[in-house]
Amino acid sequence: MGHIEVKDVSLVYDTPTGAVQAVKGVSLDIQQSEFLCLVGPSGCGKSTMLNIMAGFLHPSSGSIQIGGKAVNGSGMDRGVVFQDFAQLFPWRTALGNVSFGLEMKGVAKAERERIAREQLRLVKLEKFVDSYPHHLSGGMQQRVAIARALAYNPSVLLMDEPFAALDAMTRDDMQKLLAEVWEETRKTVIYVTHNVAEAVYLADRVIVMTPHPGRIKTEMRIHLPRPRDPLSVEFLEHQKALVGQLG
Ligand code: ADP
Repeated sequence: MGHIEVKDVSLVYDTPTGAVQAVKGVSLDIQQSEFLCLVGPSGCGKSTMLNIMAGFLHPSSGSIQIGGKAVNGSGMDRGVVFQDFAQLFPWRTALGNVSFGLEMKGVAKAERERIAREQLRLVKLEKFVDSYPHHLSGGMQQRVAIARALAYNPSVLLMDEPFAALDAMTRDDMQKLLAEVWEETRKTVIYVTHNVAEAVYLADRVIVMTPHPGRIKTEMRIHLPRPRDPLSVEFLEHQKALVGQLG
């Protein structure tokens, strides 16, 4: 039995111009601590799938279980990171942002600050605990968002193109950092991207989706040892094979 079981999930959006079938018949078993990437062209239902797993959207049919429990709304077993820098509270420091979920959970101040500092250390921001988001670069803000998502110790991390708005060099650094964070925390990660190299760098397994309606076309396992070298022949071969599947 997988950690996350997605069974025959479909979702239809009702729009003023008619029904849009965003996702159709998606079934997936995701193992504990697996790093899974969802890739595919724009509009193939990747974000819709992630939002269903997060519990922000309810599927029109099918079901999702996490750790044997049906998903019926958002929950503390899942942390979510989006692309948008504006996901942080601008009036809170990095520490205040990361400790927010713990505050909601009723964790005492000293304990939540201890945990928040530990999470900020994990994303190499220990020197910026007292900084506000507008004093941090885009990459640093995304690191705060990752620390915040991890703070209440969810078993699953859901990430929707978290580095897509960053410049190429920062994105490379962030991918490296995320791979390290994953090695250390062993969360189950579902990561949406349309960037093939990013998927080959990060994933244990890549799910390729096709649009209209959003379906699973195929999957590819990435058996390369970590840390991965994007310039190695094996890496480029995987990348080429994945591009072939997307074409
Ligand atoms: P992706 O993340 O792969 O780009 P999405 O999940 O955002 O794909 O979208 C899948 C399909 O659903 C697209 O055809 C998109 O236009 C449609 N869609 C997404 N969000 C909505 C919405 N809120 N209302 C109506 N249609 C939507």
